[in-house]
Amino acid sequence: MGVLAFNKRLTRIRQKMEENNIDALLVTHRPNVYYLSGFTGTSGFLLLTFGEALLYTDFRYIQQAREEAPAFEIVQVNSTADYAAAAQHISHRGLKNIALEEAHVSLRDFLRFKNSYHGNGSIVPLFNFIEEMRAIKDNEEVKLITEAARIADEAFQSILPLLKPGMSELDLAGELEYRLRKGGSEKLPFDIIVASGERSALPHGVASPRIIREGEPVTVDFGAVYGGYCSDMTRTFIFGTPSPKQQEIYDTVLQGQEMALSSIKPGQKASDADAVVRGYFQQLGYGEFFGHGLGHGVGLEVHELPTLSPKGESLLKEEMVFTLEPGIYIEGWGGVRIEDMVVMRSDGVQNLTKTGKSFIIG
Ligand code: ZN
Ligand code: ZN
Repeated sequence: MGVLAFNKRLTRIRQKMEENNIDALLVTHRPNVYYLSGFTGTSGFLLLTFGEALLYTDFRYIQQAREEAPAFEIVQVNSTADYAAAAQHISHRGLKNIALEEAHVSLRDFLRFKNSYHGNGSIVPLFNFIEEMRAIKDNEEVKLITEAARIADEAFQSILPLLKPGMSELDLAGELEYRLRKGGSEKLPFDIIVASGERSALPHGVASPRIIREGEPVTVDFGAVYGGYCSDMTRTFIFGTPSPKQQEIYDTVLQGQEMALSSIKPGQKASDADAVVRGYFQQLGYGEFFGHGLGHGVGLEVHELPTLSPKGESLLKEEMVFTLEPGIYIEGWGGVRIEDMVVMRSDGVQNLTKTGKSFIIG
């Protein structure tokens, strides 16, 4: 990511601060710190005002911070979360509204900040302030995400010949993790989900020692990280011949996902996108078995804005990257989920996940 990209973001966040009457912004959530500054260290936070851009970090990261965040003045502090230093710094400047990220500041850090702030301004909680900006990706981000999706596709395809009944979920996850790392994934964005048989009814069943048998649905949900950006995909498959009910449920989920892929357009409300698939499942009597949202944004974090669910208020805009992952889960029977990652373009979504969707393998 070039320096220019970070400078642009700094300009945009200051515009946003101005629009919201915010005079100082303390940025403590690591993905947000990286997004605005380029700093990748695991300890550090930002203080932004209209005149200053400060990056506070400790001895271990001073040199790294200078190199990675040239637009910021680097301030050395002793402890990981010395928000007191930032509070004192802005105490007597006549600033009115001092904003903190409410979802990312512990009570201890909040009290530390508050007790060290001696000005007359008010402390304002902000929710999703930087995250809203992050939801719309620039070209460089889309390239990194596309590469993360490609690594995941390739890793999955490369393990297909190894899959056979009798292997455990952990074994499958291990092979996949190895191929992801060998293919260039910097780390795993989340623990690989492998849920077979009845366990496939667990939308987030991480791999267990359970042995996968013929005739059981297997859900595999995983991703890669490239250049700090995540990908996320799910495939469900079965060894041998599915029962008519298994086939029917698989086809229903696939048709639901295809409806989403072909119908979602920029400007659409996230909840309306969700409703297309939810309504279809309801018609077929499966509504109650689709217990999560249709999708979520992906970027520096594997779950970010926008939220495609019945409560999703935001509009789906061009250059947003999100998943489309309908699923049907029936307790005691099993489940099916199919997840692709897409980028919104002017005429609809472009699919970044290329792996085929055949139910039967082996
Ligand atoms: Zn997933
Ligand atoms: Zn997902």
